Amino acid sequence: MPAEIVGIDDEVRSVRTYHLRLSDSGDAASYRLRAGQFNMLYLPGIGEAAISVSGDPSDCHELVHTVRAVGNVTNRLALSTVGTTLGVRGPYGSHWPLEQCSGCDVVLIAGGIGLAPLRPVIYELLAKRERFGRIWLLMGARSPSDLLYATQYMNWSYEGITVQTTVDRPTDDWSGNVGVVTPLVERLELDRPNQTVVMTCGPEIMMRFAARSAQRIGVSTDHIWVSLERNMTCAFGHCGHCQFGPHFICKDGPVLRYDRVAALLEVRSL
Ligand SMILES: Cc1cc2nc3c(=O)[nH]c(=O)nc-3n(C[C@H](O)[C@H](O)[C@H](O)COP(=O)(O)OP(=O)(O)OC[C@H]3O[C@@H](n4cnc5c(N)ncnc54)[C@H](O)[C@@H]3O)c2cc1C
Repeated sequence: MPAEIVGIDDEVRSVRTYHLRLSDSGDAASYRLRAGQFNMLYLPGIGEAAISVSGDPSDCHELVHTVRAVGNVTNRLALSTVGTTLGVRGPYGSHWPLEQCSGCDVVLIAGGIGLAPLRPVIYELLAKRERFGRIWLLMGARSPSDLLYATQYMNWSYEGITVQTTVDRPTDDWSGNVGVVTPLVERLELDRPNQTVVMTCGPEIMMRFAARSAQRIGVSTDHIWVSLERNMTCAFGHCGHCQFGPHFICKDGPVLRYDRVAALLEVRSL
């Protein structure tokens, strides 16, 4: 589907958020997505990249994607301006388990740009805040200036999310936590670990350690969800590029229950 870039926000270093509007009104009217899903963004003559939806899933008027410029497509996308037309294929993939969260406490654990696929969850939790118990967002970044969507943290706190941040490399004016995100997980005082759902997205090593920490504080592996990335081409389970053991990340994932992939995540370079 052709789509026009109607807005661009500069986020952190090398990361921008693109607001897209589908050009065809029929496409726009029928487009629906769930938190955690992704689109393939296509730049004519360059190629396609899988990019998660980072906006509010209840508002498909604009498709919102937050992109780090790392290679062919994303570097070229970084040069585009409002008014550029690109192609959108999707939405694809599994979604975060919001139904399972009803009546539960929720812990979101993000590393770097991993907060992008979790932001739709935040919008959904806040839209129906009364249905959920306590909500935490634990966010880790390389440095204070790498904290994605930092200007929104205060609003999220006012709306009932406990936001805790940590950075690897503090600056002189940083008075917050320093180090990886896992100690923040282990310091959580959960009232009812058996009714707590954990969702995590970020570097794989971070998710592995975060999941182990969540288990240490009493969360069972079938209440922990991860979002995985693998190089993908077709996005609908035909080409096999994103195969991960018995799973295709494009259609069985990207969001997968931790107990189904924990053993595979221990295998190097899978
Ligand atoms: C389901 C899914 C959701 C994603 N969501 C986002 C998002 O919201 N924002 C975002 O910025 N990026 C996201 N990505 C990552 C993005 O698709 C890749 O970085 C993609 O390769 C960028 O395309 P490119 O042409 O710019 O880079 P390329 O030219 O393809 O390559 C960039 C470099 O990264 C390596 N690489 C490519 N893809 C992967 C991969 N999946 N895993 C590990 N290494 C890889 C390449 O080998 C190369 O070294 C997502 C990926 C998946 C699978």
